[in-house]
Amino acid sequence: MTLQIRRAPVKEVDLQTVYDAVVVGSGAAGGTASHVLTSRGLKVLLLEAGRKLDLEKELRSMEWPYDHPRRGQMPPDREALRLNEYTIRNPPYAQGSKAKHVYSYVQGWSGSDYSKNIVVDEKANPYTGTKYAWVRARCLGGKSNIWGRLALRLSDYDFKAKSHDGYGEDWPISYADVAPYYDKVDLYLGISGHKENLPHLPDSLFQRTTRLNPAEVRLRRTLKKMDRVLTPYRAGVTTDGLKHNKYRSRCFGRGACSRRAGGCDIHAAFDSPTGFIYPAEDTGRLTVRTNSTAYEVTVDPATGKARGVAFVDTVTGKHHEARARVVVVAASTLESARLLLLSRSAAHPNGIGNSSGHVGHNFCEHVMGPSVSGLVKEMVGKPRTLDDGRPGGFYIPRFRNLKDRHPNFIRAYGFEGGSGTGMFPGAAGSTPGFGSAFKKTVRDNAGAYIDMGGFGEVLARYENWMDIDPQVKDRWGIPVLRFHYNFGDNERKMAADMADTAREMFEAAGIEVLGVDREMLTEGWSIHELGTARMGTDPKTSVLNQFQQSHDVKNLFVVDGSSHVSASCQNPTWTIMALAWRSCDHLADELQRGNL
Ligand SMILES: Cc1cc2nc3c(=O)[nH]c(=O)nc-3n(C[C@H](O)[C@H](O)[C@H](O)COP(=O)(O)OP(=O)(O)OC[C@H]3O[C@@H](n4cnc5c(N)ncnc54)[C@H](O)[C@@H]3O)c2cc1C
Ligand code: SF4
Repeated sequence: MTLQIRRAPVKEVDLQTVYDAVVVGSGAAGGTASHVLTSRGLKVLLLEAGRKLDLEKELRSMEWPYDHPRRGQMPPDREALRLNEYTIRNPPYAQGSKAKHVYSYVQGWSGSDYSKNIVVDEKANPYTGTKYAWVRARCLGGKSNIWGRLALRLSDYDFKAKSHDGYGEDWPISYADVAPYYDKVDLYLGISGHKENLPHLPDSLFQRTTRLNPAEVRLRRTLKKMDRVLTPYRAGVTTDGLKHNKYRSRCFGRGACSRRAGGCDIHAAFDSPTGFIYPAEDTGRLTVRTNSTAYEVTVDPATGKARGVAFVDTVTGKHHEARARVVVVAASTLESARLLLLSRSAAHPNGIGNSSGHVGHNFCEHVMGPSVSGLVKEMVGKPRTLDDGRPGGFYIPRFRNLKDRHPNFIRAYGFEGGSGTGMFPGAAGSTPGFGSAFKKTVRDNAGAYIDMGGFGEVLARYENWMDIDPQVKDRWGIPVLRFHYNFGDNERKMAADMADTAREMFEAAGIEVLGVDREMLTEGWSIHELGTARMGTDPKTSVLNQFQQSHDVKNLFVVDGSSHVSASCQNPTWTIMALAWRSCDHLADELQRGNL
């Protein structure tokens, strides 16, 4: 298969046309919307705040550190925020920094030069309030260009969580409603994984799975005896290839693949531009305008319905309005809430779609931090294996609060982990000593190292919320988001259990425990933000209906993670795309019927 690389000429976008739909944001959610709506015959305008990047040139996945003048690191006038800056200070974190450009913590991971143009410059895009490690990507495709690819389904343990433990709200849908759309996402984008037949982690329509290495197989065998499961990383990656998509290649499991924040320059890992947007453009029905930051959903004063979207061109500073019959907001959970709250008018004085007062509330995500690292003694000094050339290591699905009830907390957590020889030996930093003995130990232990970290559900609570800061504005004069958010007691108790069970599992497998981290990382660290415009059946306590359609404004849809009622502990992106697909199908039907 020959990969088709797009270098489209820049042309002025027609803003006189009234489009069938205007979509705000081009990440996983906006990409799905663009694909589904154009394939249903609609004329769509996609507005994206960031630039269109030449991603193959940005990512250079196969460049080795010694090929790069700074061994892959950013130029000296740029810096990434460090762990302690988030734990000690409050936002705006870049305030007072001497660096010309400041980025969130993910930029501090290895190979920071390769994604510096993908994530936002914190100096231009501040936010305020309580501590929050907010990771934003601003370019065509958003965070999908660098996501970790763990692609999981939710189950009725999640959609009907309140029915299990009495807390919060059930979703207005069940697994049976979403399953056909998970299938569509699986088949259209490709997903690799191994069937396990678990009711709490439904299987996808998997392509070829990646293989566990010996240390991981050993842990899997031990966990089986404990009635727990370790499964190969379920990756949003096409391992067998996709005949219908000329922009993506199958995964070759090359060598430097595990560099993060990284992405995949042959697009075997899903990203929204090659997965959705380029194919949608090929239909002739999608128009993309980048450098276009939306700051208001405009309203027809006669009807109160959405009329279009006002945006600023981030290069020229000029303001424009795009008009459409339907507005689809997909700017990512927190940015979507910001846009709704900014869209105040006589018809919608608290922000569009916010008659319930719930926009910005019920925020939820994942708590992470507790982790374990260890050494599989039998692997020490063994020949190297290629373990970077995989889209991921392993996943341990939740095992708490399924058949029994934990006395200290509700809901659950899962673990992501990996082992084997990577480009950089993971344990080098914590290995004591110096000189040749140190080097030998690091080399001998490189393939024997294994670690894993937990991702736990943060409960959706009305008191965890965001609003618009009355004073602070971004570089383009748009008021910024202010956080009022803290972890609660359930999260703290769950995190303690994560650390205990992580150690317990390694010890049971005979893995020498090198360290157990019990600390929770700062709020936001998981990059799985959800819930700021939740769906529900009651317009007084929810913002959207089951099709992510505003209760108040019938031609307004919000198709990203803001609609999620609870966070589950599974990573959200596959669900975001399945729900967006379902809602956009409904939108197209309703438009055809003349109901919007
Ligand atoms: C390093 C990393 C690892 C991750 N790992 C995983 C994982 O393993 N599994 C998983 O499920 N998820 C993972 N995620 C999260 C995943 O990337 C997100 O869930 C997903 O991208 C959300 O899709 P979205 O479309 O809502 O938002 P995004 O992908 O962020 O896209 C939103 C887009 O909207 C644009 N935008 C924002 N505001 C405006 C505006 N006002 N006007 C116009 N455009 C706007 C942005 O520029 C952006 O392009 C990870 C994320 C990161 C960064
Ligand atoms: S392992 Fe596969 S999906 Fe991951 S970066 Fe390499 S080629 Fe891409």
